[in-house]
Amino acid sequence: QAKQQGRAGFCLFTPELGAQWQERHGLEWDLRRALAGGQFRLEYQPLVCLASGRVLGAEALLRWHRPGHGEIPPDQFIGLAEEIGLIGPIGAWVLQEACREAAGWPAPLGIAVNVSPLQFRLPDLYGTVKAALQQAGLAPERLELEITEGILMRDTRETLEVLCRLRDLGVRLAMDDFGTGYSSLGYLNRFAFDKIKIDRSFVRHLTNDPKAKAVVHAVMGLSQTLGIRAHAEGVENDEQAELLRQEGCEEVQGYLYGRPMPPQQFATLFRQAS
Ligand code: C2E
Ligand code: MG
Ligand code: MG
Ligand code: MG
Repeated sequence: QAKQQGRAGFCLFTPELGAQWQERHGLEWDLRRALAGGQFRLEYQPLVCLASGRVLGAEALLRWHRPGHGEIPPDQFIGLAEEIGLIGPIGAWVLQEACREAAGWPAPLGIAVNVSPLQFRLPDLYGTVKAALQQAGLAPERLELEITEGILMRDTRETLEVLCRLRDLGVRLAMDDFGTGYSSLGYLNRFAFDKIKIDRSFVRHLTNDPKAKAVVHAVMGLSQTLGIRAHAEGVENDEQAELLRQEGCEEVQGYLYGRPMPPQQFATLFRQAS
């Protein structure tokens, strides 16, 4: 028994694991300096009306230029930021920056901002959102918060309270990556979401997998029954767009309409469109 544990313990110190630890430690070290170092920026991906092709607004997506390593995708550092207590300040910066940028766009163009479930457990998400809107001079109706399903399962009462206060302020709520989490339909209704964003994984297989098509069909029915706007993520080709149109999907986002882009480029896009 002891010998076994000893061997297991020894295994922890293989050079490979040592290198992994060093890599993570380096990432953490750099992430702690990224905000003060001005290494974050936002890109904007157009949200488009499927029927008219009109640009309705954009989703703000966080980008990190890590010195010596180049661009690090958010999937590779948001989780770490949550773990080491940085998601509060980073999330607040994203809200401020996104609202400031969107305030320069013609109304009613809107801005969608991703909010980590952990931000709901910090003392003052409501205050942070309100301050970001006020500082920017942006009408609350033009801000949409994207929340993943997982949040709704935890801390239900407090979460509900914050969501309700944000709604009272006029901010809109979208459920992000729908279909990948707990998919509790009861919550969808109870939390009074304005929008369901059907996850990219279903859209991707829409044209070749009957199951993906069935899921999209079911979500569309749900959206109609509950009176919640349906949005499809990750639309890459015309066949997908056509099927979504047939299903009655109202809003789309994806490489077919535009990749995430710097703010100047997004400004050019909606100026051309109007
Ligand atoms: P998300 O909120 O679901 O954002 C959509 C992701 O899909 C983005 O990846 C976007 O670039 C990508 N995407 C959009 N259209 C297409 C398409 O047609 N094809 C393909 N293959 N991909 C497409 P990105 O920017 O790498 O962000 C990944 C995730 O990181 C986001 O997923 C979101 O959960 C998180 N994230 C990004 N920015 C923030 C932020 O400011 N705060 C928080 N908490 N999370 C963020
Ligand atoms: Mg999102
Ligand atoms: Mg999503
Ligand atoms: Mg996602």
